Amino acid sequence: MTAVSNSYPTEALRAADAAHHIHPFSDTKSLNEEGSRIITRADGVWLTDSDGNRILDGMAGLWCVQVGHGRQAIADAVHAQMSELSYYNTFFKTTHPPAVALAERLAKLAPPHLNRVFFCSSGSEANDTVFRMVRHYWDQMGKPDKKVIISRWNGYHGSTLAGTSLGGMKAMHTQGDLPVPGVHHINQPYWFGEGYEMSPEEFGVMAARDLERAIDEIGEDKVAAFIAEPIQGAGGVIIPPETYWPEVKRILDERDILFVADEVICGFGRLGEWFGSQYYGLEPDLMAIAKGLTSGYLPMGGVLVSDKVSVGLIDKGGDFNHGYTYSGHPACAAAALANLDIIENEHLVERVKNDIGPYLQERWIGLGDHPLVGQARMKGLMGALEIVPDKKNPHKPFKDVGVPGLLCRDVSFEHGMVMRAVRDSMIISPPLVLSHEEADHLVATARKTLDDTHQILKRNGFLD
Ligand SMILES: *Cc1c(COP(=O)(O)O)cnc(C)c1O
Repeated sequence: MTAVSNSYPTEALRAADAAHHIHPFSDTKSLNEEGSRIITRADGVWLTDSDGNRILDGMAGLWCVQVGHGRQAIADAVHAQMSELSYYNTFFKTTHPPAVALAERLAKLAPPHLNRVFFCSSGSEANDTVFRMVRHYWDQMGKPDKKVIISRWNGYHGSTLAGTSLGGMKAMHTQGDLPVPGVHHINQPYWFGEGYEMSPEEFGVMAARDLERAIDEIGEDKVAAFIAEPIQGAGGVIIPPETYWPEVKRILDERDILFVADEVICGFGRLGEWFGSQYYGLEPDLMAIAKGLTSGYLPMGGVLVSDKVSVGLIDKGGDFNHGYTYSGHPACAAAALANLDIIENEHLVERVKNDIGPYLQERWIGLGDHPLVGQARMKGLMGALEIVPDKKNPHKPFKDVGVPGLLCRDVSFEHGMVMRAVRDSMIISPPLVLSHEEADHLVATARKTLDDTHQILKRNGFLD
């Protein structure tokens, strides 16, 4: 057995990377000048880079490594599956045991009204599937005018055409002339950045009513679905005010449109429930899943389908002309099953709810006293620190939005920890296996990072 391990000097790898590898969401020109960071090994919550530095993975890879890195049981399950049936498709009246077992397992784990799953290889593909599925559903139900999908500014639903279009990232829309027609964006429930002139409770209701206004303006007879993340991840861990989801739920209950929960981050224990929808008491008609489904060991996503949607999609008959070569891939399904075994056997969901979640939240929110921090927030194991130029006037952003965040991210790396910057919010989403000791280390490193960033920003005239 062989892995692509590191037998080259860092500089040689950097040069080859710069010459041949185009990175996602990167300015390749400046990255090539600077040189990529090279990760060579990972174990538990720790990464090792090509110079031998140990780095605490505060982002669980990209929000996905729920069970921590290097779990032999998943590697073994994939190896065994590949030795028996490495690949077969699920088209043409065919299935295979791993796909069946995973579909059944997910139906058991999901809320009771979600009993079927469509498999794909990523969160983006899940949302592309959603896009076609909700429109097809309404066609099948004899309401072909219901085509518009409502989503939110600064939501993230992936990087494919439908994912980018459903998402509300303007910097993504400007490349590729998106969104595609038929997507309508409403405001996000971002109290700290956009709603602070009201109480969070008032703002939550107002942001929810943006949905009501949009449906009523477009016409309920033209709206197919509303899609949203329970908590926005890539948008900056935007935790909606407590009034937001109850008001959205009221609006949806009164109107005949589908609700799609994008659970790609919030699913599989991140919020201390199996799904973020359960955390907020939502009853989605469809759920997009990926990331934590396999803890990132292999790429896999899916769409969980409710009994209600099954009526249009399945009971009415006819082909759904959609699918991927790797839908239900046996090795990926085996990885997912082994990953779910670990989550269950180690009680990781309960652990986030009752143990490491509250433990880290208390300490993370304690960072709110730092002079650079305007707000510290966290639910489950996803958190953000808003860094600001003037703590006494905390909602006023930096003049060069994003520059202090990137600086802070680099300082964090130098101190041996991954935090991600979204604008000037510092984001964490650590593996669910994080120990108390590692949580203490995470918070201490974050504080040191804030101290150093504060000094650098002061020296360079960024602070008010
Ligand atoms: C990451 C993400 C996606 C896209 O998933 P990919 O696997 O990167 O395609 C979609 N929705 C949300 C909420 C995500 O965080």
